Order: sequence, then C-alpha cells, then structure tokens
Amino acid sequence: MFIGIDIGGTKIAAVLTDDALNVIDEARLATPDTQDEVLETLTAVVGGMAMRATAPVRAIGVGVPSMVERPSGRIAMSVNLDLEGVVLADELGRRTGRRVVVDNDANVAALAEHRAGAARDADTAVILTLGTGVGGGAILGGELFHGGTGMGAELGHVVVDAHGPPCPGSCPGRGCLEAYASGTAVALAAQAAAVDHPDGPLARAMRDRGADARTVTEVAQAGDPVAARLLAEAGWALGVGMSALANVFNPEVFVLGGGMAAAGPLLLDHAEAEYRRRALPPHAGARIVPARFGPEAGMLGAALLAMGAAA
Ligand SMILES: [Zn+2]
Repeated sequence: MFIGIDIGGTKIAAVLTDDALNVIDEARLATPDTQDEVLETLTAVVGGMAMRATAPVRAIGVGVPSMVERPSGRIAMSVNLDLEGVVLADELGRRTGRRVVVDNDANVAALAEHRAGAARDADTAVILTLGTGVGGGAILGGELFHGGTGMGAELGHVVVDAHGPPCPGSCPGRGCLEAYASGTAVALAAQAAAVDHPDGPLARAMRDRGADARTVTEVAQAGDPVAARLLAEAGWALGVGMSALANVFNPEVFVLGGGMAAAGPLLLDHAEAEYRRRALPPHAGARIVPARFGPEAGMLGAALLAMGAAA
C-alpha cells in the first residue's frame, strides 16, 4: 500500500491506496503554521493511516507547494509554507521510519494525469493546473521533467506579454501566464471590472458571494457579458502560453485542470482557438483535454510518486 500527501497552503489532504490506486482511506486537515507543527501533523497522519492499512505501507509520496531541489531534496523556495531549507523526505522518513519521496505539487498533479488520468496514453504531455496560481508539469518520454536542479517546468511563468501586469505572488516578472489565467489574476481583473460596472451582475455577485474566480465563473455562466469577457481574456492568455510551450515541448496533449478549468468552454474554447491560431502548423493538432482529476490530483499523484519510488 502507499500513502500520498498533498500539502497545500491552507489544508493537507492524504490518501491511503492499494497498489492499483484504489482509495482505502482519506484524511483532510488544516495546514498548521509552523514547521514543527507541519512535521508533527504529517507524522501523525502517516501513523494513523499505517494502522488502518491492511498491508504494509511501502512508501510515502508528498506534494508540496514549493520548489524542491534535486538531487538533495531540499525545499529551496516555499512561499506559503514554512518548510524552506528542510530536506522533507529525510525528515519525514526519519520520523516515520518509511521511504518518503517529495516533489512539487504541480509536478505531482501532472503525474496523476499522466499515470492515471487524461494524459494516460501520451508519451509527451503538458499539464497546466489553473488554481490560485498556474502550476505546470511536463511529461517527456514518459517521465516527469525536472530541469537541471529540480526547479523545472514552472510553466505558469511563461511570458505571455512582456509589458503585461505584474505577476502575482513572489515572481518578479510581468505578463506571465499566471498574471492572466490564475484564479488570483481573474479575481483582480474582476475587481477592476466591478469598479467600471458598479451596478452590474458581476459587482453585485462579488459583494454577495465573494470577489473570487468562482463568482466570476458563476456570473459568466448565467450570461453576464462582463464576466464572460474576463474568462475569455484568461483563455486568450492560456492559448498564447500553450503555443509558446508547444514550441519547447512538442506535446501530444495539453491537459487543463484546476479550479479555473471548471469555467469549461467559457475559458477553454478561447484558449483552444487562440492556440490553434498561433501554433506552428506541426503543433496545431495537439490535443487539448480537460483534466480527469480535480482537487484529488495532488494526493493521488503523491501516491503514484510513492509507487514509482517503491518499484
Ligand atoms: Zn511569473
């Protein structure tokens, strides 16, 4: 059996699976603030799941919202989580007495789509996760691409417009894909649109239900052209970014997932149209498909990471 753990900025999701990725047990907890508390929580989760396991737990996989240096396993950069400098695999391995493998959360989600999801039949794939930020993973020759020191495939920071808006979060760049197609970027654009249309459906819904990308999607789906335009612009940027990525990776398939992908055709049709307009002719036929997995991609991918390590 295997344990997969997805550590998010606000919550930790863990799963116990059998060797065929069938879910035997699940756990969800709030992410504690301090490094010690995070490590203690992870150790307790592993202990509890190992007790409920009906066969030995062979390895543990962990996805973190952090840049994980290779081959050392040191967490080199972690903005939302107090784990910077920690060699998490060693630390958790010592505390649990088990084999632990750690990778970036977007890489782990990409692994889930490749091994068990929408990119299952592809040897070369680009997986974009449109959440609070834009995470990405590239599968090349059937394996996750990590770059020279493990920092590879930060696909959300591909530049769509060099003079574009500042990238949200800790990136010093401008006009990155993340500055257009992330939930954060769409929420920011929606706030500006609400100032321009203070009595419109979008402004009213944001006051009632919250100024986030989910509200934008709901209002757009109800037919509001202002909200629909925001999603169309995010989709445009996505298509531009994908055409740039196609030139680098030549993928057979693009997989689009994460909370923003729930906007469906209102976002993805624009992305696909812009991609087909811009891609070099040999790339233009790449398949563009929605992700199979939702929020569970992280923990299932982490379990798959563990399986790979135990193989
Ligand atoms: Zn950026």
